[in-house]
Amino acid sequence: MTADAVLNAVCEDFRRIHGRAPAGVWAAPGRVNLIGEHTDYNDGFALPMALPQTTVLAARRRDDGLLRLHSAQGDGRVTELAVADLAPGGAGGWTRYPAGVVWALRERGLAVGGADLHLDSSVPAGAGLSSSAALECAVALAYDGLYGLRLSGPELARVAQYAENAFAGVPCGVMDQMASLCCAEGSALHLDSRSLEVRQVPFDLTGHGLSLLVLDTGVAHDLGDGAYASLRDGCERAARLLGLPALRDLSEGELPGALAELPAGLVPLVRHVVTENARVGRAVGRLTAGEPEALGALLTAGHASLRDDYRVSCPETDLAVDAAVAAGALGARMTGGGFGGSVIALVPAGQAASVARAVTRAFAAADFAAPAVLEAVPSAGARRIA
Ligand code: ADP
Ligand code: MG
Repeated sequence: MTADAVLNAVCEDFRRIHGRAPAGVWAAPGRVNLIGEHTDYNDGFALPMALPQTTVLAARRRDDGLLRLHSAQGDGRVTELAVADLAPGGAGGWTRYPAGVVWALRERGLAVGGADLHLDSSVPAGAGLSSSAALECAVALAYDGLYGLRLSGPELARVAQYAENAFAGVPCGVMDQMASLCCAEGSALHLDSRSLEVRQVPFDLTGHGLSLLVLDTGVAHDLGDGAYASLRDGCERAARLLGLPALRDLSEGELPGALAELPAGLVPLVRHVVTENARVGRAVGRLTAGEPEALGALLTAGHASLRDDYRVSCPETDLAVDAAVAAGALGARMTGGGFGGSVIALVPAGQAASVARAVTRAFAAADFAAPAVLEAVPSAGARRIA
């Protein structure tokens, strides 16, 4: 569908569902993270880019304090909630993400009320491409517009992250929300998760004869399942033992000395976070020097660190990385929190189809379901579209 056709369909559906026209339409993208995984909650660095896949949200303010929610990917029903009664645990399923954003805005002391919302998304859900952040950020930006809040991208990202942490119960960092809100077309986003300072780093794939494949393994990750929280706890414990505010404050040079002081169980976690932050710095250096092909080796090294030290990969993501590299990818890694989800592979453009075929063949030989393949193009961040 063209962008106009999507916009018309969402407005038409909104009218049918809510009985009047929307006041505006907003779009927020999913993302892939090029490098810098499990670094955001350690106050560290990441390098995500927005995808062309977006969550489109039509909205209209209501003055009776009701929040009425409908999603084309939901259960077909309109969920009606009283904004004044919103509390963590008070909304279930997918509605906890949008309801959480409205709750989080009110927790910030902002006088926001009700709205009619209808959304339709092309971001695959549960694939590690951040459909949850796309949904939250679309709602946050729509509320910013409907209620004239004038919050900045980083402020909205903190609201969306707080909604996911405290209302939806997922202890994620801030990278996904920052990516969805702050990325720019044609660039990757160099993010400092402590200060929320960002820099747009030009990422010209086509100009360098490159293509970035996303291989969705179809294995659903579940970040609510405690594994993520226990990794996060481990990192925070290590920082405390080292007397540091966060693992971000440990440099690569200080790593050997620090590892010698830590209990064995924490060593691989700390090694991943510190080397991963360094890989982000190197990746930004290569992109700035106009050598995006040099990202390949950093991606593959990052995957090895996630697989062997952080231990968040799974047989499907490992196989996708190995098969892509064997078939000519310059590098590949899992992207997102792990335990399934998607793999990105940087490939010479002429080999994109053959690399995708090779991964599909390897999956069939291993009796894994066929991966879904997308091409990632660095796209615009969240915006109002009507
Ligand atoms: P990811 O963010 O990697 O896609 P998550 O598990 O964090 O995976 O978020 C997926 C969840 O977000 C879905 O299970 C659903 O509850 C919610 N979600 C995302 N997009 C939509 C949508 N368009 N409509 C309804 N719910 C959605
Ligand atoms: Mg998510």
